[in-house]
Amino acid sequence: MCPRVEVNLSKIRHNTRVITKLCSKLNIQVAGVTKVFCAMPEIVQAMIDGGIEMLADSRIENLKKLDNFKIPKILLRLPMKSQAMEVIKYADISLNSELATIEELSRAARKEKKIHNIILMIDLGDLREGVWKDKILDTVKEILKLDQIKLIGIGTNLTCYGGVIPDNKNLGMLVEISNQIEKEFNISLEIISGGNSSSLYLIEKGEMPKKINHLRLGEAIVLGRETAYGHIIKNTFKDAFTFVAEIIELKEKPSVPIGEIGLDAFGNKPTFTDNGIRKRAILAVGRQDVLVDNITPFNRKIKILGASSDHLIIDVTDCEEEYAIGDEIRFQVEYGALLQLMTSGYVYKEIQ
Ligand SMILES: *Cc1c(COP(=O)(O)O)cnc(C)c1O
Repeated sequence: MCPRVEVNLSKIRHNTRVITKLCSKLNIQVAGVTKVFCAMPEIVQAMIDGGIEMLADSRIENLKKLDNFKIPKILLRLPMKSQAMEVIKYADISLNSELATIEELSRAARKEKKIHNIILMIDLGDLREGVWKDKILDTVKEILKLDQIKLIGIGTNLTCYGGVIPDNKNLGMLVEISNQIEKEFNISLEIISGGNSSSLYLIEKGEMPKKINHLRLGEAIVLGRETAYGHIIKNTFKDAFTFVAEIIELKEKPSVPIGEIGLDAFGNKPTFTDNGIRKRAILAVGRQDVLVDNITPFNRKIKILGASSDHLIIDVTDCEEEYAIGDEIRFQVEYGALLQLMTSGYVYKEIQ
């Protein structure tokens, strides 16, 4: 079946094992982030077999799918107030930064006769979610008044919007804030969650502040990559996921279109270099399914020329292989492509 993503579960298990071991040496617990593969249960199981003790996803729809896995589940994206009831039902922990939402969660938890755990997010400068530093103590004070809510920790998220790299200074600040909260309110915080796959490099460098005891890791496990500098993580696989598409047209054509050039299918004005007559293949996949700048053919002699919604055009002139109609072309994927491929209903998922 094409187009398809092939998922190698043993590579996921291996990556998870390598990374959880690395973290456990520093007493860092890992929440396995499942959003990039839409929480497919087989892949989740492979993460659990590899040593994950908590699951995390940004969407409640995905956590619902994971209800059968009896390990703690974290909702990563700040809850919508309108979803409070579902958050209480399907998430054991949620990340929060808004009192109005936390109060709504408390009301929903009362209805369900539950205590809901929250991690208060602190914005250390990346400017996505989180309480700003001058409002932290006031916010905590209000949270502690809510009977059905337990503040189990604080956390931060970096390198997402602003591209800010975690270091011992900003994560050190998170630790300092946790100390301040514990002292001021005489409570202890179980979890100090120091970010996502961009925080991993600090472990290798030996610069992870001691009190950080939790990370939320997706890309590192799935693609074997730390995301602060984009380095491959030692001893992990980057090809646990492979994308495959099929050739539906194969012809020699000029490299420059004939006629007046207007706008392409996405409203951009394309430009072309004349490389003469080239052998081009059309693959039955397009921008509706995959971020085409985010995939790399395993055959390095193939060049991606462009794509419209349902067609991906590649140049195979320099390839030694004699391709034919119906042949499959294999690609390595990056995060954005994987996200889209796993979400597309037109792409088959083959578990191996
Ligand atoms: C997506 C997400 C993560 C995981 O990010 P990776 O870079 O895939 O490790 C962690 N925390 C939050 C809040 C997220 O939204």
